[in-house]
Amino acid sequence: MLKLKGMSHDLGGGFAVRRVLPKREKRMVGPFIFLDHMGPFTAVPEQNIDVRPHPHIGLSTVTYLFQGEIMHRDSVGSEQVILPGDVNWMISGSGISHSERTPERLRGTSRHLHGLQIWVALPDHSEDADPRFLHYNRKDIPVLEDDEKKIKVIAGEGFGLSSPVAITSPLLYFEYEAKRAHSFSLDTHSFEYGVYMIEGSGSVSGEELLAHEMHVIDLGEKNLISVSRDSKFIVIGGEPFKTPRHIWWNLVSSSKEKIEAAKQKWKEGSFPMIDGEEDYIPLPQS
Ligand code: MN
Repeated sequence: MLKLKGMSHDLGGGFAVRRVLPKREKRMVGPFIFLDHMGPFTAVPEQNIDVRPHPHIGLSTVTYLFQGEIMHRDSVGSEQVILPGDVNWMISGSGISHSERTPERLRGTSRHLHGLQIWVALPDHSEDADPRFLHYNRKDIPVLEDDEKKIKVIAGEGFGLSSPVAITSPLLYFEYEAKRAHSFSLDTHSFEYGVYMIEGSGSVSGEELLAHEMHVIDLGEKNLISVSRDSKFIVIGGEPFKTPRHIWWNLVSSSKEKIEAAKQKWKEGSFPMIDGEEDYIPLPQS
């Protein structure tokens, strides 16, 4: 039984997030290599999100909001506001840089923000793919709703639903809201999973699961997920990678050399940059 707790991590500007992945005891869940849970919080008017341009390789960043808005800009020319329920899926491939900011029209206002940023490692054969940015409107994300639950399949296939999000390896990512207490199981024949509680509580195979905790369900493990009324959680899962991933800052790769090469390119300014953005986050010293 493995339970991961979201640990507070300061993004700067007074924005603390809970970092759930990676952890020493669990580096990845399927292809999922990073999970930050931000909020819910209310930003005061002078508190804007300004994550300046920074590079990524070897992964897709997946942004999903419950509340608030974020403006995304990247080096392949995308400029896209993400709204609650939308899915931003940015495939970095061999290299992309992006910024994430409070949209101009919301600056100077009080705002709620609540969401998740997740990284999905690219499989060996597509680590060096061309960078691409995909945006899916919330209306295109399939929903199953009845009197006990509401499920949104953000990526992959489950509960008879199939998400249009273009995935790069077998995975499943869904949001689950329980209207009343009930239980269900996940098929672990080829997937491992992480069940991350956003609000409320539940249990996995008899082990209590509180808000901001992730319970890891191993490949082949029998499981019973019990959720209490009005709880909300997400599940990420997929086929475990056969080759390990290195992770340094915003860079992920099966090859340490590729991470070193990307560091060098960012340092010397030869990485793809965003038109119209002057500032950037310098390469960390260590
Ligand atoms: Mn990023």
